[in-house]
Amino acid sequence: MSKVVNKLGEEEIELVRRSSLLVGRTLAEVAKRIAPGVSTGELDRMAEEFIRDNGGIPGFKGLYGCPSTLLISVNEQVVHGLPGERTLAEGDVASVDCGVLMNGFYGDSAYTFQVGEVAAEVRELLRVTQECLKLGIAQAVANNRTGDIGYAVQHHAEAHGYGIVRELVGHGVGRKLHEAPEVPNYGRRGHGAKLNEGMVIAIEPMVNMGVKEVSQLDDGWTVVSRDGKPSAHFEHTVAVRAGKAEVLSTFSYIEDVLKERGMAVEEPGWEKQ
Ligand code: MG
Ligand code: MG
Repeated sequence: MSKVVNKLGEEEIELVRRSSLLVGRTLAEVAKRIAPGVSTGELDRMAEEFIRDNGGIPGFKGLYGCPSTLLISVNEQVVHGLPGERTLAEGDVASVDCGVLMNGFYGDSAYTFQVGEVAAEVRELLRVTQECLKLGIAQAVANNRTGDIGYAVQHHAEAHGYGIVRELVGHGVGRKLHEAPEVPNYGRRGHGAKLNEGMVIAIEPMVNMGVKEVSQLDDGWTVVSRDGKPSAHFEHTVAVRAGKAEVLSTFSYIEDVLKERGMAVEEPGWEKQ
């Protein structure tokens, strides 16, 4: 971790932004269709077609043997759920993770959707996880360390009694989907890899309503919470800057669609005031 990692030039950062924006638009297509009775496989096929129609390549498909464009993780599934026959049901929450490769650079973002009416305590989990993401992003400034991000995320989640997943972490993004440094969602202030201006990282808190421990299913992919309680996952790709991080991906296309459809959008508590 002591080597200089994935510092990108301005033109390269711009290409990561374009890939990340296509991820955001793809997730907005998911937002248009997500509903009880829709299968995760259907959403996956639609996403692949949309990405290819817009000049991108699905970033996950084929990587590490991943068979799909989206990773869709429902309820107690934390991340890396494989799309297929499963149909979404009223009250589910589904984390949809998407990557795009375009012009040689990746973008990576994830959003946890509500399917129909979701229980208030689960909506609270989604809100707090988005707050964790925002607090983590606020620490992605030059001369901070990855531990500053991890501390901010962990502290906020644990203050609400939630479990922070340790086994999966954020990461550098660039010509590869996963680059150094690792960006854990836990940590100590002032520790970890140093953040330099121009580094591009994905910050992606995975927050369990119950215990932090996870298991992997026999499919070799799906990660689930060990106690079976729901889990939430939100991710942005951001550029480290002096003073304030620059978010390269966006949820605004998603939120526009959800609001248009009259669906619930959980916003950080401090933005409601
Ligand atoms: Mg992702
Ligand atoms: Mg990621």
